[in-house]
Amino acid sequence: MLELKNVKKVYHVGEDITALNGVSIGFGQSGLVSILGPSGCGKTTLLNVIGGLDEYDSGDVIVKGKSTKAFKSADWDAYRNNCIGFVFQGYNLISHQTVLKNVEVALTLSGISKSQRTSRAKKALEDVGLGAHLNKKPSQLSGGQMQRVAIARALVNNPEIILADEPTGALDSKTSVQIMDILKEISKEKLVIMVTHNKDLAQQYSSRIINMLDGEIHSDSEPDSSQSSSSEGIISGFKKTSMSIITAIGLSFSNLMTKKGRTFLTSLAGGIGIIGIALVLALSNAVTLNVKKREDAMVAGSSISISETGTSYNAFNNTALEKYPTTDAISVYDPTGAGNENAHFNNITAEYIAYIEKMKSEIGDSINSIEYDRKVKTIAFIKHGDSVVDITGKLRDYNLPSDPDKFSKMYSLIGQNSKIPTAKNEIVISVDKYNRIDKSVLDILGINKDDVKSANDLIGKTIMKVANNDDYYVKKDDIFEPIDGQQRQKLYNSGKMLELKVVGVVRAKKDFENAGNVVRSGIAHTDQLSDYLIENSLKSKIVLAQKSSDFNVLTNVKFKNEAEKEQAIRELGGRELPSEMSIYPASAKGSKEIVSYLNAYNEGKNEKDKIIFEDFGSQRMAVIQQTTSMVTGVLISFSAISLIVSSIMIAILTYVSVMERTKEIGILRSIGARKRDVSRLFNAETSIIGFISGVIGIVSTLLLTVVLNPVMVSMMSGESGDSYMVLDPVHAVLLIILSVVITVIAGFIPAKMASRKKPVEALRTE
Ligand code: ADP
Ligand code: MG
Repeated sequence: MLELKNVKKVYHVGEDITALNGVSIGFGQSGLVSILGPSGCGKTTLLNVIGGLDEYDSGDVIVKGKSTKAFKSADWDAYRNNCIGFVFQGYNLISHQTVLKNVEVALTLSGISKSQRTSRAKKALEDVGLGAHLNKKPSQLSGGQMQRVAIARALVNNPEIILADEPTGALDSKTSVQIMDILKEISKEKLVIMVTHNKDLAQQYSSRIINMLDGEIHSDSEPDSSQSSSSEGIISGFKKTSMSIITAIGLSFSNLMTKKGRTFLTSLAGGIGIIGIALVLALSNAVTLNVKKREDAMVAGSSISISETGTSYNAFNNTALEKYPTTDAISVYDPTGAGNENAHFNNITAEYIAYIEKMKSEIGDSINSIEYDRKVKTIAFIKHGDSVVDITGKLRDYNLPSDPDKFSKMYSLIGQNSKIPTAKNEIVISVDKYNRIDKSVLDILGINKDDVKSANDLIGKTIMKVANNDDYYVKKDDIFEPIDGQQRQKLYNSGKMLELKVVGVVRAKKDFENAGNVVRSGIAHTDQLSDYLIENSLKSKIVLAQKSSDFNVLTNVKFKNEAEKEQAIRELGGRELPSEMSIYPASAKGSKEIVSYLNAYNEGKNEKDKIIFEDFGSQRMAVIQQTTSMVTGVLISFSAISLIVSSIMIAILTYVSVMERTKEIGILRSIGARKRDVSRLFNAETSIIGFISGVIGIVSTLLLTVVLNPVMVSMMSGESGDSYMVLDPVHAVLLIILSVVITVIAGFIPAKMASRKKPVEALRTE
């Protein structure tokens, strides 16, 4: 059955300790062999070598006629699982598992089905008289009962050899006898090799007694039996042990279930790390979302503007000059852009205006409104008590979006009688975000501030009348003069003036508070009024005169340049085309579309025919984006840090909990678990913990975001519907996977280390 040939084993601990000094011995198929000898003579070492828990240095152990010299680790595992059953003095039961599970575990390695496992384990336990204690934990049993569990575990795989190292060493004499009876019974069919201190028991029960001294066989009651094994000559491999992944997961799961509190705490600790990352991610998601919203608002509130004088901002910066030069050369520039060689004159033609108007139908959704500015000084009178006051030039021709949808997008109507102006004689008064009106606006309109308490006090009033150039300007010698007070009165009452009526009070919406010129001017009207005024003034005498003179027809002063003359013509309503326009995009995306639409116009055009524009929104957005990318950068670093911290935390936790169970690993190895099975078991366990950690982390984060979101919203002065903390579902899933991966990696190394340990060393760990 089993034969040792000149087996030597030396321990190297500082000095060399020879535990086995050339042991040659053979064992038969059955019988109870007792090994006696003083402490430290090598009995345990001998048993461990026989059982494959420890390696021998030289000599050979022949099992069923097969040399074990060339045995690989897997062969030893299979050998332990198939051939050997161990019974230790200290029982070596897995304390957190039930009695039944402790016995069953040996069978899981032999690839036996679950139901078979249970019934065989039950049978083995019944055989040793423990049928009534299946579901107890080892700690609830007496020493004798625990040893019987160990015997049941040793027997359950039906091995040929039972190795028992001082099985009664920790038991009282009565219990010892019970255990010896069981071993004796077993030895009828199997070989039982028992190390003991108890000479009496050995003599009473053994079929053979071997005495050891200083690592050598001192005496043997049956020395000849050593011959019997070699004659057997059966060389057969052992059935390799293996544990399926499913079994591993099942085992790990029930393992974890036996220590719910602990599993939960470990997972919670890991989960806290995940919460950290998830919260930071949620926060940065929220930042991104909000930035997008704000960008849209910002872009919507800032215009893309085109003006004839080109863009002074660009002209200001558009220079080939070196920044922060080290030379003492100084150059001169004109910030108005005039005379600046880089300044560009935009020749806004009818064709261009048509192109802009076409944009409304092509990418209408990208645009909130287009405001044209023709810079006309509207001729207007108001009645102040009995006298008619001239307010010409006080009213600028800013116009409102004519599309009601676009109008409502940018402006709110205040007061129940307010309406959107649609006709040329309809005007609106604008208020700011506090519903205030500039007093000077009321002054211009001749309205007493005490008479204005609500929007409805303004609506329906006819507050001014506008006149044509020819009715207003009279030629005197070389210059034109406005009519005097008396004529004004006459004109006002003549019915030749157009009456303007206030039809509404408007307020720019939140995102547009900085937007419209309309809002800043206090009074706004429709395009129709501009068209009407310009139509009349184009043919007026004063305009015709001004167009053909290089002197200002009102002051008789010579114009310094063409631009000045142009300005004068415009103010008199002498130009049909606007000199300036502001395009308000509907969103950040819309802004890009508008920009590319405007750029498309310039394609293939000469430099001087190009129309350049200024994109304030994008300029402001660039600043925001810089800040945002900084904030995002900070948040990303935070989540990276919390990722590292929590990885380390999870790693340490897993490491500790795996290390703690080295003994369990030793037990598993002693009953034939391969290194791989052990790793697999622990990996399955750590992935379950990692998964629970991840789920705890995500669920807690979701709960936290519910609580924290309103706090953040109020802290960052957002609106109640805003989401400042939202966890992206993709991130949630990724974090759970991450948690599993980190935990498995963290557990992998200590599990590997523990499984690499020699079983005998692992067993010795407390
Ligand atoms: P016994 O079981 O007969 O009391 P052991 O087989 O345990 O004796 O030990 C035999 C000798 O080997 C002793 O001197 C012991 O100190 C030594 N020994 C046993 N195991 C180790 C070990 N892991 N490392 C170093 N020395 C050991
Ligand atoms: Mg010993």
